Amino acid sequence: MTTIEGNLQGLRERIARACAQAGRDASEVSLLAVSKTFGPDAVRQAQAAGQRAFGENYVQEGVEKILALRESSPPSGPIEWHCIGPLQSNKTRLVAAHFDWVQSVDRLKIAERLSEQRPEGLPPLQVCLQVNVDGGLTKSGVAPGALPALAMAVSRLPNLRLRGLMCVPEPADGFEAQRALFLQARALFNQLNDAGFALDTLSLGMSDDLEAAVAAGSTMVRVGRAVFGSRPAKVTSAA
Ligand SMILES: *Cc1c(COP(=O)(O)O)cnc(C)c1O
Repeated sequence: MTTIEGNLQGLRERIARACAQAGRDASEVSLLAVSKTFGPDAVRQAQAAGQRAFGENYVQEGVEKILALRESSPPSGPIEWHCIGPLQSNKTRLVAAHFDWVQSVDRLKIAERLSEQRPEGLPPLQVCLQVNVDGGLTKSGVAPGALPALAMAVSRLPNLRLRGLMCVPEPADGFEAQRALFLQARALFNQLNDAGFALDTLSLGMSDDLEAAVAAGSTMVRVGRAVFGSRPAKVTSAA
């Protein structure tokens, strides 16, 4: 068994335990394997171990991997690629052409570009709105107060399909504090559905806090290090 295969197996058990603890069915929570900084071989190993959905933060790096994986026509079926990193206008064309999902939409302008640039013949781009529940000023994400208007506008774009919300709160101290932040995202999710949206994806939780996210109602955890191992320290641009 490869390390990645063993990690995935352990992680699936961890998610199942978190679901049991929360009185939820394990089938309600899917796993997005975050492969940023790891090469195509790591993705292939995870794919061979049954993992199908992968997340990338950096557009250029993600597209290179998508193309590399596409060439080596996978024996275990197609991969679903999710863009989960902050998006700049000059990257939307690449994202619209190569990814299946974008979870980090937080401005209408970006959503409009993605819809316009989605190539004909591809299914609509599946979209989550990133919401900034804890008000961190430097962080990406739409403010909760601006969320309903953004959701309404995005849901009208022809080549996007609004699926839900994504949230990356600041690390909080302990399970209860983490859960409280995630519950704010859950409340916004419920409010939108009460207002008539049909959202089915609440993307909450990473390697260190997925139990709290599952307890708060997450339907998709985004896990990097617990699948692929620790990432190399980020190289600074000054180097
Ligand atoms: C890197 C990243 C993850 C995965 O984080 P880990 O701590 O490695 O599990 C999840 N979501 C986003 C938005 C990320 O940038």
